[in-house]
Amino acid sequence: MKKEQLEKVKSVVRNVPDFPVKGVQFKDLTTAFKDPEAFAIISDALVDLFKDRGVTKVVGIEARGFIGGAILASRLGAGFVPLRKPGKLPAEVIQKTYAKEYGTDTIEIHRDAIVPGDIVVIHDDLLATGGTMMAAYDLVRSMNPDKIYINCICGLSFLNGRSVFPKDVEVSTLFDF
Ligand code: AMP
Repeated sequence: MKKEQLEKVKSVVRNVPDFPVKGVQFKDLTTAFKDPEAFAIISDALVDLFKDRGVTKVVGIEARGFIGGAILASRLGAGFVPLRKPGKLPAEVIQKTYAKEYGTDTIEIHRDAIVPGDIVVIHDDLLATGGTMMAAYDLVRSMNPDKIYINCICGLSFLNGRSVFPKDVEVSTLFDF
């Protein structure tokens, strides 16, 4: 994937000041998802990163992580697992509460979603403080997969979200702000 193509995607991400609370510069990826060229570049770049790595499951974080996560799973021939807000998943779950860039939140995953032997990519649209992704990582790790990769379409480098993960965990983004 060429760097210029990812720069094109970055250029169509809309910045919304003071959303959802004052002081946050919200990176709105819907403007990249609705652009057919940008959407195709994102999809191909995600597949390029993870092809030939034996990925068996992609875990997508509600709700924006479902978009890239489902595409990645389908194109890799892997399964898709949703990580959801409390009360949405119908069967037995495990859950974790965590701090975000703004406020706190809780996420849940089905207890039987991941099994030993799985090679997992956890995907979300954006890595900010890393709080959401670290909670997701803890949940997935508690189900003992063989390997966990962490991936977001983009990151906010000034928040240094990558630093919260253990050093041996591969954290990737397609581009950063
Ligand atoms: P964090 O837990 O701080 O890494 O926040 C990541 C989650 O919150 C992701 O699901 C993002 O969609 C959302 N998020 C946090 N900050 C922003 C931001 N500045 N722009 C867009 N989405 C954000």
